[in-house]
Amino acid sequence: MSVEIKPGPELDRAVAEVIGDPLDRSHDWEHTGLSGYHVSFFRCRACGDLGADEWEPYDDPEDPCIKPYSTDLNAAFAAAERAGLFSETFWRTLGMDELGETWGVFEQDGSVKRSVGRDQAPTPALAICEAVLELKH
Ligand SMILES: [Zn+2]
Repeated sequence: MSVEIKPGPELDRAVAEVIGDPLDRSHDWEHTGLSGYHVSFFRCRACGDLGADEWEPYDDPEDPCIKPYSTDLNAAFAAAERAGLFSETFWRTLGMDELGETWGVFEQDGSVKRSVGRDQAPTPALAICEAVLELKH
């Protein structure tokens, strides 16, 4: 699998696929408290998508509810848990590189500490997404 590691819906979808997040899941709408024409009355609690109108929130089957794994750290940790990234079998930790500039998921292999993902990520959420994809690919 070759997915560009940059935050956004494409990466979110790739992560959802490898962790087996059901792609046909529908949104969890909540009322925004707004009223009037041309405003979104509903927002999805899970992914932040906006609904169209008061009587029938927009729910396109081509636009399933996928959590923002690549931009939201809580969602990223949920994906990590689902993928068993931080399971007890491996001593994996989320951390920064030696220079403190980029994020990665590292595992200890004997005396060698190596990164699970291919590249060093600019945010912890991206580091987790990258490691989850690497693990499951
Ligand atoms: Zn949603």
